Amino acid sequence: MVSFEQALDIVMRSAVEREAERVPLVECFNRVLARDVVSDTDIPPFNKASMDGYACRRADLGGPLTVVDVIPAGKLPAVSRIRPGECAKIMTGAIVPDGADCVIMVEYAAVDAGGGIRFTGFDTDDNICPAGQDVKRGDTVLRRGELIRAPHIATLATLGCAEPLVFKRPTVGVIATGSELVEPCARITGAQIRDSNSIQIAVQAANAGALARSYGIVGDDRQLIRARIRQALDENDLVIVSGGVSAGDLDFVPEILEQCGVTLLFTSVAMKPGKPATFGTTTSGGYCCGMPGNPVSSFIVFELLLKPLIYKLMGHVYTPPAVRAALGTAFRRSRTERREAVPVKFIDPATVVPVEFHGSAHINSLCGADGLVFVPVGTGELKQGAPVDVRPLWT
Ligand code: AMP
Ligand code: MG
Repeated sequence: MVSFEQALDIVMRSAVEREAERVPLVECFNRVLARDVVSDTDIPPFNKASMDGYACRRADLGGPLTVVDVIPAGKLPAVSRIRPGECAKIMTGAIVPDGADCVIMVEYAAVDAGGGIRFTGFDTDDNICPAGQDVKRGDTVLRRGELIRAPHIATLATLGCAEPLVFKRPTVGVIATGSELVEPCARITGAQIRDSNSIQIAVQAANAGALARSYGIVGDDRQLIRARIRQALDENDLVIVSGGVSAGDLDFVPEILEQCGVTLLFTSVAMKPGKPATFGTTTSGGYCCGMPGNPVSSFIVFELLLKPLIYKLMGHVYTPPAVRAALGTAFRRSRTERREAVPVKFIDPATVVPVEFHGSAHINSLCGADGLVFVPVGTGELKQGAPVDVRPLWT
């Protein structure tokens, strides 16, 4: 058995980022930049009015101003220079004409009977964004490895980067093993239960940016499982096998993985839940993870070990956020040899309590959780009021 930290280290060391591809901007959300993006232009490209109003010389604010031009956004000024006593009516986003050093907001301008302008305010900001204020030509604006969120997309669009180079999304195949399993649409009888892991793992993988697909349910039959794993390994970067990795008579996934050419790097981790988590690599650059079938275990093994792996395959270093909170009720446990992930919920913005939980089969409990708190190996109690770092679950 390896420690959780060792397991994560083994997984992350084994990961090699995928190749890059050019992708239209609309498809770049949640992808990872494969190359630094350098701006070939100033942003804004010209001195830009940030308010609707009148562009003039600050020195002339005390006197009447004659309007010599009207400049909407998208149009070059018609008058080449604002001279003493003159102003140009200007709209937000328009080019500020030479000679003007401020824009009086329209709210602080009174129009005389003759069409002249008077500043009615006390003082004014410049209300001008100088060229290059946001980005200077030659600046490295975004870096390789950055995860592309909405503002990154907007920045790329601003820079004219319509087809950024991003890392390919890893493909993930999910196999559910267990003779008790039936599809979610099935009516259950006898000893059957519905397969909830396939869909849960697939959406977790997709949420981390992977292209996930389900390879369905396979009963606890060596040959069938072997064939399905072989096919999934052939077709994916990462194969996730749910169930069949524990100590039962029918838990033969680890030995089958070896038969399928997977070099197992660990088969047991000192984590709770998730102890039977199994991980290995193939000579053709594939990855495979066997997960305990209990849905809470599978969820947590994915979050803690596979989410960082998928991000790394996409060229991004995933650093989970941590939120400081106080523990609202004490947490006690009798066995301390594993690092435990305890699902917690916020009862106020600064206090968490463990969610009511009766073991890792009960996925419904996890629906009420906001995050995880980790109890280290060797720790049997977290006292009421103790400061804890909460790892938010839904970011
Ligand atoms: P196993 O890891 O195969 O020993 O399964 C542990 C527990 O998880 C058993 O109660 C299984 O019935 C349950 N289980 C296994 N696979 C799934 C699945 N795909 N969806 C929901 N529960 C499962
Ligand atoms: Mg099973």
